[in-house]
This record gives sequence, C-alpha cells and structure tokens, in this order.
Amino acid sequence: MTIDFTPSAAQRELQAGAREIASRVLTGVPSTIAGLQHPHERFAATRPFFLELTRAGLLAGFIPREYGGGGLSVLDLGIAGEELTAVDINVPTSLIGTGLGLQAIIQFGSDAQKRRFLPDFVESGTDKLASFAFTEVTGGANFDCADPDAGVRTFAERDGDAWVINGEKHWTPNGSGWDNQGAHVYTLVCRIGRGRPASESLAVIVVPRSAGGIEVVGHINAMGHRAVDLPRIRFNNVRVPLDNLLGQPGDGIRICSSVFAWTGALVGAECTGAMRRAFDIAWQFAKTDKRSGSVPVIEHPTVGYQLADIKMRIEACRYLMWKACHYLDSTNGASEEMAIMSKVFCTETAVQTIYDTMRLVGMDSYALDMTPLAALMQDALAFPLFDGGNMGVRRRQLHQMLKTPGYDPMAAAEGRPQPA
Ligand SMILES: Cc1cc2nc3c(=O)[nH]c(=O)nc-3n(C[C@H](O)[C@H](O)[C@H](O)COP(=O)(O)OP(=O)(O)OC[C@H]3O[C@@H](n4cnc5c(N)ncnc54)[C@H](O)[C@@H]3O)c2cc1C
Repeated sequence: MTIDFTPSAAQRELQAGAREIASRVLTGVPSTIAGLQHPHERFAATRPFFLELTRAGLLAGFIPREYGGGGLSVLDLGIAGEELTAVDINVPTSLIGTGLGLQAIIQFGSDAQKRRFLPDFVESGTDKLASFAFTEVTGGANFDCADPDAGVRTFAERDGDAWVINGEKHWTPNGSGWDNQGAHVYTLVCRIGRGRPASESLAVIVVPRSAGGIEVVGHINAMGHRAVDLPRIRFNNVRVPLDNLLGQPGDGIRICSSVFAWTGALVGAECTGAMRRAFDIAWQFAKTDKRSGSVPVIEHPTVGYQLADIKMRIEACRYLMWKACHYLDSTNGASEEMAIMSKVFCTETAVQTIYDTMRLVGMDSYALDMTPLAALMQDALAFPLFDGGNMGVRRRQLHQMLKTPGYDPMAAAEGRPQPA
C-alpha cells in the first residue's frame, strides 16, 4: 500500500489557481449581496462571479474529457473546492449545484444523452446552470421508501413518445435560473408508475427548461447560503422525450445514492474551507487582540489549547475528505462508504468548530458586522442538514451498510469496494 498525501504538480497548480481566483474574485461577494433583500436578487447578483469561475474552467472541470470537459478527478475537485469555500460558500455552491445537476447524466447517461446535454456546460464563461431537483415539498429523507403511497410524489406518465411530468420540488439550487425562468437543465427525481415501490418506479429524467411548464413559485429565504438560489419549483404537465430518462424506472435509488456520494465527499471540502476561514479569523484575533488585558489572548493557555484543538480537527477533516474523494476515484464511484462518512463527520465537526472559534473570539463574534464568524455559522448550520440530512439519510445509509451480510469493515481502509 502506498500512502502519499502529496498533491501532484497538476493538483498544486489547480490549488494555486483556485486560491488566486478566490482571493481576487470571491472576496467581493459579501459587499455585492449586502443590502439585497430578496433571495433571488442576491443570487442574480452573483452571476459575474459565477462567470469568472466558468472562465477559469472550473465548471468544465466537472465534465469528462471525451465530452469536451476538463475531466478533473473527485480529489482534484475536493482540493479546488476547499480553496473556493475558504472565501465564499455561495458561488461555489451554485457551481457544485450545477455539477450535481449534471452528475446523474455523467454517471448514468448513455453516450447519446451525454452528447446532448453536457457540451452546453463546457464553454469558457458560460452562465448555464443545472439543478438536481430531488427534495419534495413533503420531505426528502424517505425518497427510497418501499411504501408505494409514500416517498417521492412527483410523477412522470407516459403519453405516446413523451413523459408528462407533474410535481413540486423545493430547496432546488439554481432552480430558478439567473432570470427567474428556470435552470438550463434539471435532473428531476420522480416516479414512473403509480402504486409501485421506489425500487421499481423511482427514476431520474433530464428536463431542459425549453420543455416549458416549469413554474418558479417561490424562493426560500435561508439563514445562511444567502446568495444560493433555493426556490420552490412546480412542474406542470412538462413534456420531454422518452429518451430523457436516465437508465430505467427503479434506477432512481441507485442514481440518487451515487450522486450524493459524489457531493458527500465534496461537502467535506466545503466544511474544511469554512473551518479554515474561521480558524484564520480566530488565530489572527488571538495573536493581536488583548481584550483590555496586558497580553494578546493567545498567551492564555485556554485560548492556545482551543486553537490547537481546532487546527487538529481541520487537518483530520481534510484528510478524511481527501481519502473519501480518492476512494471514489479509485473504485470508480463503486464504494460510497467514505463519502458518507466525510459528509457526516466533516459537517458536524464544522458546526462545532465554528462555534468554538466564536467562543474563542467572544461576544463580538455574534455581531454580523464585526467579524465574518456569525455569517460563517449561519452557513455551517446547513451542512449537516442538506445534501441528504445526516439523520434522515446519511446515518441511515451507514446503518444499512453495517447490517448488510458480507460488510467488510476494512474495505475502505484498504482501498477495496464493499462487496456488492
Ligand atoms: C445549500 C443547500 C443546497 C441544497 N441542495 C439541494 C439539491 O441540490 N437538490 C435538492 O433536491 N435539495 C437540495 N437541498 C435540500 C436538502 O438537501 C434536502 O432538503 C435535505 O437533504 C432533505 O433532508 P431531510 O433529512 O431534512 O429530509 P426530511 O424528509 O425533511 O426529514 C426531516 C427529518 O425527519 C427525520 N426523518 C425523516 N425520515 C427519517 C428516516 N427514515 N429515518 C430517520 N429519520 C428520519 C430526520 O430527523 C430528518 O432530519 C439543499 C439545501 C440547501 C440548504
């Protein structure tokens, strides 16, 4: 076994490029969205920032080379993602949201489907958005429920050579588009066939906004991720060709699980970035501020020990995230265990860690206009809840694995996929 945590020359270059664009461009996000009251107004104001990221090839990077993209590995994306999210969570979330919207096509689409839908996203400076429309207005956790009358309530019915789709989703990043008329394309989680369990009916269908019938019915005003588009979208008799279906009816459970493994690993990168920012703020404060005392507060052992604890947790999360990304790459996405662990562990560690930086800085950290920590905390509180909530989805997935006959407790550590 070779264990080498040294990024390659190409990864160092990618990391430096992402760090440079984050500090040159994304530092402008807070002042751009400050004072904008409506969530869609805040999101729309970030379009120039999104364009800068796509000009830098960061959206094309998600797409395999054979379809004109940059073909970055999951580990490459994790390394770049940490750099971006150490400065801003909003624009990188719109970017990763587009990557997630395309993942179902990348991982499960036929060659013809990939050639139809992916090239729009590889152009430098494109503003095209994709959206993974998964969460039902009645909840997302039980999307795979065996009860035919429970779970996903968005339905696609066959009508001649088309699927006709009806349903309502919310918390759908990028779903309203820059112009509030919809994302360029959705990968929509729905049921085909009423009265059948999810294992036979759950499906993912590609829905371009040009299909018509897509209605933006509201925008969620979230406490954090303030410039991420989180609309409520109604699909009204939306007609798309039959061959927009990815795989077969019933493949939806596998598709959701697989694309959420991809994001699970990358959410670990977001959390590492956010914690790193919080650490930098607390560390600078501790080195320079005496708080009316006679020495900088870092001289107090309680403060220094707390900083040491925070730093250790950030390092642990970074390498867990790298391992999860590498494991997805090396098993070609076949093993999701480490990605789920990265999602759960890094998200909950991020909330605790950012709270600890607030304890260290004290009262002033609670003011939205005195340090960025309060806003970081607002962003971090979404981490355990989104992307398949840690309670309703992620721990349940791990629990299921642990119960499966043949579960191999050393598979992840030794780089093998879990037995099928
Ligand atoms: C920034 C951001 C980005 C997002 N990105 C997307 C996206 O790309 N696409 C998308 O569709 N959504 C997205 N969402 C929405 C989010 O991912 C989902 O709403 C969320 O994962 C749903 O999980 P939930 O566990 O809260 O579901 P719910 O179904 O609302 O469950 C709520 C709670 O009920 C309990 N519960 C329910 N069922 C069970 C069970 N079977 N076992 C144990 N406990 C249970 C748990 O305590 C759970 O926390 C995003 C949200 C945000 C804020």
